[in-house]
Amino acid sequence: MTSSSRSIRDVVVVGGGHNGLACAALLARDGRNVLLLEADAELGGPARTEEFFPGFRASTAHLLNRFHPELVRLLALERHGLVLTGQPFMPSVALARDGNHLVLHGAYGEALTGASAAEQRAWRELRAQLLRQAGILKPFLARRPPEPGSRDPGDLIALGKAALALKRLGKEEMRDFLRVFLMNVNDLLDEQLTDLRLKGLLAFDAVLGSHLGPRSPTSLLGLYYRLAGEIGGAAGAQLVPRGGMASVVDALRQAAESAGATVLTGAPVSRILVEHGRATGVALADGQEVRAGCVVSAINPRSTFFDLVGAPALDTGFVRKVKNIRMKGDVAKLHLALDGVPDFPGLLPEDMGGRLVIAPSPDHVERAFNPAKYGAFSPEPVMEIVLPSLSDPAMAPAGCCTLSAVVQYAPHVLKEGWDVGRPKLLGAIMAQLEIYAPGIGGMVRHAELLTPADIEARYRMPGGHWHHGELQADQMLFSRPVSGWSGYDTPIEGLYLAGAGSHPGGGISGVPGMNAARRVMEGVR
Ligand SMILES: Cc1cc2nc3c(=O)[nH]c(=O)nc-3n(C[C@H](O)[C@H](O)[C@H](O)COP(=O)(O)OP(=O)(O)OC[C@H]3O[C@@H](n4cnc5c(N)ncnc54)[C@H](O)[C@@H]3O)c2cc1C
Repeated sequence: MTSSSRSIRDVVVVGGGHNGLACAALLARDGRNVLLLEADAELGGPARTEEFFPGFRASTAHLLNRFHPELVRLLALERHGLVLTGQPFMPSVALARDGNHLVLHGAYGEALTGASAAEQRAWRELRAQLLRQAGILKPFLARRPPEPGSRDPGDLIALGKAALALKRLGKEEMRDFLRVFLMNVNDLLDEQLTDLRLKGLLAFDAVLGSHLGPRSPTSLLGLYYRLAGEIGGAAGAQLVPRGGMASVVDALRQAAESAGATVLTGAPVSRILVEHGRATGVALADGQEVRAGCVVSAINPRSTFFDLVGAPALDTGFVRKVKNIRMKGDVAKLHLALDGVPDFPGLLPEDMGGRLVIAPSPDHVERAFNPAKYGAFSPEPVMEIVLPSLSDPAMAPAGCCTLSAVVQYAPHVLKEGWDVGRPKLLGAIMAQLEIYAPGIGGMVRHAELLTPADIEARYRMPGGHWHHGELQADQMLFSRPVSGWSGYDTPIEGLYLAGAGSHPGGGISGVPGMNAARRVMEGVR
């Protein structure tokens, strides 16, 4: 850090993930003097796009399905190089062993192919129902969650709008929504669908990134969360942005810097300075201190309070709540450098660029979850696969291909340890891939498998957790990150939270960063 950046700032943002960048950009745009400090040499956390083998690139978070349109608009991100409009939405393919794949086209299955006419009708109904119901949750995402018993006019308006949206569903569907809302996804799918491939895909989507199986109570919430996201104005849509997820990070950085924020990388914060119960700045690992009017922590809440603030500055009740946030990641990430494009028999060329899901049935997903409860992984892991070099040739050398797979149910703490377990998990994943893309094993030039322990170390994400804390009913809305402190404020005056551990949770949405910036602008506390 140069001496010029040692001056007093209005705001210091800790962490240059996409939420920290979004928050910094909005505050700078509001005329604040903002300094953002990122520990790593690169911005973006798992949203970075990195070379994992000479000539081969991949983004750890590889799909965009919930980047908030208001943020895109407020920060004019398309002017800063983000290309979202005009990009085709990717289909989701439920891969089948016999090559009879089922494909959800457009924005989360506007059309379904590969299923019977009766199943297509049932899906049309279920899709419309899920989207309507997810829409009720939507207004709650882009604002502070209403506190129970609050008389705040904003909270009352949000609750009123939700009540109205519920009423608009009509009596019968309102009753049904209240019945299914906290149900497990498996039971709902059994009520309405019959095709195991379709049910497997939906069950996978409901639990992706969390420590739940399709039969775990409340697992349907994950599907509502997924469908409350939108891209290009289409709920449930997904795409790989041109240039990979790095293009989102680059656009946010440009927006922040052009609004006047200073963005520094290679600048780990080691302490948040607290004087008389108020945050007054930060200390960097190299000993330098930066004074600030307020501090926004866009990193994990546990790291914020235990590593940077320190438990002695907090009351014991609050410390206990933070300690109890569940955040053991369950996701591994595979990057393959391939000599050519793998052949998935039965898959049409136009669907090769889609999201390919190996989750043949809800039972299969549930069986894959079982070992994870006991510190092991399934011999038949479930996963979503993307071939990013098909749409963006810069991701692999000519004639070659990059495969990027999110593999669900790799426990953060593996009983046998990840040094022993990593090659075994890689073997299990490759065996699954071989079933759907015979010969793929012979094309592998290099394989990079990131376990949750690797993700934790590489991205400074405790537990390697996708959402910086489980996104389950007891850790959502006014209970996120902990009850009593869901509105981006903290017990330390002048210290705010802005990362995925805050409402509404993780995924590349930018919403925690956007909501936190608004809270700072309100000037409360
Ligand atoms: C394997 C995997 C796959 C995923 N796939 C997808 C996907 O396809 N689509 C999707 O939408 N989401 C995906 N996610 C989730 C998504 O990546 C996260 O929810 C998101 O990155 C959270 O953003 P954030 O800005 O809140 O935090 P982070 O992205 O974690 O950023 C926090 C930043 O703070 C920095 N930092 C930490 N400590 C300090 C410190 N002391 N000082 C300074 N800087 C610090 C870190 O280096 C990091 O850059 C995936 C996550 C994982 C792990």
